[in-house]
Amino acid sequence: MRHLPEPWEGILCISGRSSLSGGRMKRAELRMLAWEVTRRCNLSCLHCRASAQDGPYPGELSTEEALAFIEEVASFAAPVVILTGGEPLLRPDILQIAERGSALGLRMVMAPNGTLLTTELARELREAGIQRISISLDGARRGTHDAFRGVPGAFEGALGGIRCAKEAGLPFQINTTVTRRNLQELPRIVELAQRLGAEAHHMFMLVPTGRGKEMRAEAISAEEYERTLHWYREQQLRSPIHLKATCAPHYQRILRQCGPGERKGFGQHRQVFERTTRGCLAGTAFCFVSHVGDVQPCGYLELTCGNIRREPLPSIWEGAGLFKELRDFRRYKGRCGRCEFRAVCGGCRARAYEMTGDYLEEEPLCSYEPKGVSSDRSRGHGLLSGEDLGVRCPGK
Ligand code: SF4
Ligand code: SF4
Repeated sequence: MRHLPEPWEGILCISGRSSLSGGRMKRAELRMLAWEVTRRCNLSCLHCRASAQDGPYPGELSTEEALAFIEEVASFAAPVVILTGGEPLLRPDILQIAERGSALGLRMVMAPNGTLLTTELARELREAGIQRISISLDGARRGTHDAFRGVPGAFEGALGGIRCAKEAGLPFQINTTVTRRNLQELPRIVELAQRLGAEAHHMFMLVPTGRGKEMRAEAISAEEYERTLHWYREQQLRSPIHLKATCAPHYQRILRQCGPGERKGFGQHRQVFERTTRGCLAGTAFCFVSHVGDVQPCGYLELTCGNIRREPLPSIWEGAGLFKELRDFRRYKGRCGRCEFRAVCGGCRARAYEMTGDYLEEEPLCSYEPKGVSSDRSRGHGLLSGEDLGVRCPGK
């Protein structure tokens, strides 16, 4: 039986049904769409991809355009639609958009910052068909989180939003962007997510775009990254809630190197599921649509493949040259290009672009030395397993 993803699986969690031929995807199904419904935001986070401010931002899609767009999405695919921003709750027609998407059978989820949520609004979101929200906690305490978010009181605001979601019965997950600044606090943030009753905790690795560029020096090193992902995998096996490393593509390598783990029940089930996903989905199963309708492989990879005002999304998704390049793993360069895990990992194309200027270059924050792609193994397999490759967990 096919295992369906949770309503919200960050950017990575889809079942891996893509098929490859010699490293090239035969068909790309849009499984997840992040839609920046507005760029306006009431916070000013240091690592914001969109460098969002209070705005206003001219040229945002009108209600009519937004509703027509969601119809267009549903006409060719059934992705999880992440309503994001900026702060999506600053869009006055957000409930209407959510309702239309849900009525069309799309799995609608949302990424508010929590500070504007009330119990009443959370109830309205649930009734409009929002299946889960994500709220970011970048620290386990006020000082760390507020410094990240650039606004005093953001921590209390996020916790208040979480309280409202709980009261309204709206499922939520906690997201954390990891940098040198909060790395030591990560165990406490995960504990806090568990205590708060989150459905899941998703750990994101910093991608230095937007305002995050100024935090480049705060990105953790490839070695710290590797150690953190191994630690997170250990937590995942024993956590009562779902833990997921997102935009950390080599986590997929680590899962295959380490095997499914020993825990029975929840952890093992999730682990098996994790192993059926791909690391970076940008352009292969996921895309991003900006507040003015520009289509990008992901929000962090600031390269435009088209605009939905000028061309329908299905034709951009299927025809854009950039998407085609990202789907052809044989074009990847450096260590990613010769890596036996490139089909399941692929490295972060946005980090490659930001740090080298070439989105096909190797992932700068991976320390793995590939053993080489075997054409026999990569041909016809969308997903390679650690067992197939005879590799072992470096941590064992
Ligand atoms: S390019 Fe990087 S940030 Fe974008 S989806 Fe891939 S891993 Fe995530
Ligand atoms: S070398 Fe590239 S493809 Fe291989 S594990 Fe590292 S990031 Fe992934």
